[in-house]
Amino acid sequence: MARVFLSLGSNLGDRLTLLKAAVRGLREIGETRFVGASPLYETEPWESEPGQALDERRWYLNCVVAIETTLSPRDLLERLQALEGALGRARPAGTPESRRFLPRTLDIDILFFGDRVISAPDDLHVPHLLLDQRAFVLRPLADLAPELEHPALYQTVRELLDALDDDHDVRPSEHGARWFED
Ligand code: AMP
Repeated sequence: MARVFLSLGSNLGDRLTLLKAAVRGLREIGETRFVGASPLYETEPWESEPGQALDERRWYLNCVVAIETTLSPRDLLERLQALEGALGRARPAGTPESRRFLPRTLDIDILFFGDRVISAPDDLHVPHLLLDQRAFVLRPLADLAPELEHPALYQTVRELLDALDDDHDVRPSEHGARWFED
């Protein structure tokens, strides 16, 4: 069994309901055990859509979820993408780069997959390439696993968070630590 950390985020629709549905969906993936989830954070979006006024940018609700799985990284990614699709995320045409800042009902990223380091060109990257640059990932990750060491950067999550230079606002949400239990 590999211990896997996932980043979940939503900035469209009923964000809390979507994240609860995502956790229910994760619990139903075969060969996989749900371990726990961080509290939720309200997070400032990194970018707006082209032409979108600044005050219209929708904030995200973000968290990190821990699971254990015997699936391969690629099989897990497929299940996660199916879950994103089932919960209504449209995948418009374009490169991941051009789609990066579009609003999304639900986005699930693999942050860590045990201590595996995977780098498939233009495809799956584990640990996630941007995790050490994003407060909205490192804050909830530090709630769950502050001493976890990045297998390529050799720094713990707490050290990465302490060294982080990200001005985007990340605020604890009002939903409480047990938001995923009902
Ligand atoms: P996004 O539109 O942000 O969900 O990006 C999806 C694309 O990122 C897919 O083509 C994935 O194969 C790729 N990808 C690369 N590394 C990861 C990762 N660690 N977790 C999730 N998706 C990833």
